[in-house]
Amino acid sequence: MELLVVIVITCILLVIAVPSINGIIEATEKKACEESRLQLERIYETHLVTEDIDHSETFFQDFKSNRIDGEICPEKGEIRYIENEVVCSVHHDHDGPEENDNGEVPYL
Ligand SMILES: [Zn+2]
Repeated sequence: MELLVVIVITCILLVIAVPSINGIIEATEKKACEESRLQLERIYETHLVTEDIDHSETFFQDFKSNRIDGEICPEKGEIRYIENEVVCSVHHDHDGPEENDNGEVPYL
C-alpha cells in the first residue's frame, strides 16, 4: 500500500514536472538562438559597412559558416538575413500580429 502511494505521488510529480522542464529547455534554446543571431547580426552588419559590401543571401551564408562555429540555433533552424535582421525559421522573436495567425496566445 505504501509503495503504491509512493508510485502514485511520483507519477503526479512527473506529470507536473516534465512539461515545465520542457518549457525551460525550449525557453533556453530560444534564448541561445536569439543571442547567437544578435551577435551574428552585429558582426555581419559591421563587416558589410567596413568592407563596403552589399548584402546577398549567398554572401551571408558564407559569412555565417566562416565566422560561427557550430549551429546558431540549437533546434537547427534555418538562419537567414531578412530586412536587416538575422532570423531563424524555428524561433521568432517578433510578437507582431503576423506571428499569431493560428489565433493562439503564446507563452501560456
Ligand atoms: Zn532558432
